[in-house]
Amino acid sequence: MFLIVGFYLFETFLSVAGRLFCTVGVHPTRCKEFEESGDPEKHFQALLSLAKEGIEKGKVVAIGECGLDYDRLHFCPSEIQRKYFEKQFELAYATKLPMFLHMREAAADFCAIVERNKDRFTGGVTHSFTGSAEDRDKLLTFNMYIGINGCSLKTAENLDVVRGIPIERMMIETDSPYCEIKNAHAGISFVKSTWPSKKKEKYDQDSLVKGRNEPCLVRQVLEVVDGCKGINDIDQLSRTLYHNTCRVFFPQDLDSAADALLAGRRNTP
Ligand SMILES: [Zn+2]
Repeated sequence: MFLIVGFYLFETFLSVAGRLFCTVGVHPTRCKEFEESGDPEKHFQALLSLAKEGIEKGKVVAIGECGLDYDRLHFCPSEIQRKYFEKQFELAYATKLPMFLHMREAAADFCAIVERNKDRFTGGVTHSFTGSAEDRDKLLTFNMYIGINGCSLKTAENLDVVRGIPIERMMIETDSPYCEIKNAHAGISFVKSTWPSKKKEKYDQDSLVKGRNEPCLVRQVLEVVDGCKGINDIDQLSRTLYHNTCRVFFPQDLDSAADALLAGRRNTP
C-alpha cells in the first residue's frame, strides 16, 4: 500500500490507481503559497474542496503533510509555518480525516500547536521522526503514532529513541525517494535484505536506481526496527505495524482484510 503525500495545493494525485492513496495539505516549507496566492482564505477553501472531492473518490485518506520544519526556514519563515500549520487543523476538523504530520527541529512549537488543536483531529502520524527521547514522549501523550524511516535510524541516539517507541504506536515508511538507510548509518548493521542497484543512466527494471530510496526498501526499515528492539519476529512486527497504518488511514480495512491482503501478497510469486 502506498500513501503519496502532497506538498502544494495543486500537487495532488486524485487519479492515482489501485492501492495508491494520497493526502491533501501544504508542507511547512511551502506555506508561503497561502500568502502568495493573494487570498489565503480562498486558497484554504480550494484545499477543502479538493479534500472533499478526494474523499468521494476514495483516494484522499489524510490531511498533510503539514507541520513545522525549522531546519529549512530558508523556504518559509517560522511564523508563516506556525500560522498555516494551525490553520490546517480546520481541514482535519471539517473532513474528519487523520493528519500526516512533519516535525523537524521544532518540537516545542509543534507540540504546543497540536495541544491547542488536539480535539480537532481524530489521530494521525508524525512521520520521519528524528527527535529526542523527550520529543518522543511528548508526542506519545497525543492520540498519535510515530513514523520511522531511514532518517530516524542514522545514529546510535536515534536507535535508542526508536527502542522507546511502543510498536503499538509506531508506523514505518520509506519517505521515498528520500531518507534511505546508508552504509554510514547506525541502523545499517540490522539490515538483512539488499537489492541490486544501477545508476539511473543504466536503468533496468530489475534493479533499484542507485541513490534513490524506493518503496521496497521499507523492508530494511522493518529489519532495523526488529533488530534494534530485539523483537526477532519480523512477521508479527510487520502485521502489527500494518494494522496500525490501517487503523488510522484505512479504517474500512479491518485487521482481517489487511491480513488477507498480506497473505495474498505472500502467495504471489
Ligand atoms: Zn515530511
